[in-house]
Amino acid sequence: MKIVIIGAGAMGGLFAARLAAAGEDVSVVDVWAEHVETIRTQGLILETGEGEVRTKPAAVTRVEDLAACAADLVIVFVKSGMTAAAARSAQTILGPVGRVLTLQNGLGNAEMIAEVFGADRVLAGTTAQGATLIGPGRIRHGGRGDTHIGRLTGPVDDFCREAAMILSRAGIPAIAEDAVQSLIWGKLVINVGINALTALLRFTNGQLNDHAETRELVKLAVAEAVQVAAASDVRLPYDNAVEKVLAVAAATAANRSSMLQDILRGRATEIDAINGALVREGVRLGVPTPVNATLTLLIKALEKQQGICG
Ligand code: NAD
Repeated sequence: MKIVIIGAGAMGGLFAARLAAAGEDVSVVDVWAEHVETIRTQGLILETGEGEVRTKPAAVTRVEDLAACAADLVIVFVKSGMTAAAARSAQTILGPVGRVLTLQNGLGNAEMIAEVFGADRVLAGTTAQGATLIGPGRIRHGGRGDTHIGRLTGPVDDFCREAAMILSRAGIPAIAEDAVQSLIWGKLVINVGINALTALLRFTNGQLNDHAETRELVKLAVAEAVQVAAASDVRLPYDNAVEKVLAVAAATAANRSSMLQDILRGRATEIDAINGALVREGVRLGVPTPVNATLTLLIKALEKQQGICG
């Protein structure tokens, strides 16, 4: 399977390195010229607990430079604010029966890609893998866990199973799943409860459990998310969402959430795809979401205060 990854940052770099090390035909596209040039000249280095994995996937800054490519699978791993641009790029390189996979966090990424290719050609899901971009050409593998892949519409098919098998063979354990919306929402609710609050308070995930006030804020934000999920006819993959979110915060106690990391690095957050998307869904479905609306405005104000263009 010919694979192209659009967005070769932390996660795209991790997947590219694992797939290339397993001998798969994988190329990366990233707008960051220094990163691409480093991959091209010195290779892509993945730091793992067991040492470094060095590979040299084809790397370009402009998708047109892969024009003759006809990819079977394009994996979109940009931040959610760039998904529409990445989907347009994918048009240049996706083969006639190829599909586009998103494992990004937040709501709406798969739907944005579906606007370009049609829902039938979109695969979506979640991944419990984690990674950090250390610098040009260098990624650190963080948390490990399962990746779930399904079709945006309809049950899994052979293509889905093959994509999951290729990832698993490359050391990214993946499972083909029917209920992708349940998984996407399951991860969304956790991000709704943890990301904005940790970014506003500059807390590690575990610190949310340390105070009655923050436990209450998690509860209020997550309760709205549960109501919006129910109004969307989505069944969450766990019964007690508040307990689940606080358990995840405890299990990842030392971690800085991606939103906190973005704020600390002066980068745009994914607030519009997380709490902001929940608010938009709430408006559409007539479910009030005042807590998430407030969290969204506070993060946007914080971005502006730090000179971050959203
Ligand atoms: P990142 O910022 O490290 O990487 C994104 C990359 O996309 C950057 O290198 C950037 O230069 C590139 N990019 C931006 N616009 C582009 C465009 N138009 N075309 C090509 N490249 C472009 O982000 P990340 O941490 O890898 O996160 C990617 C997605 O995966 C997010 O939705 C995130 O929530 C999700 N995710 C991240 C982790 C993690 O541990 N980092 C885990 C699970 C899911």
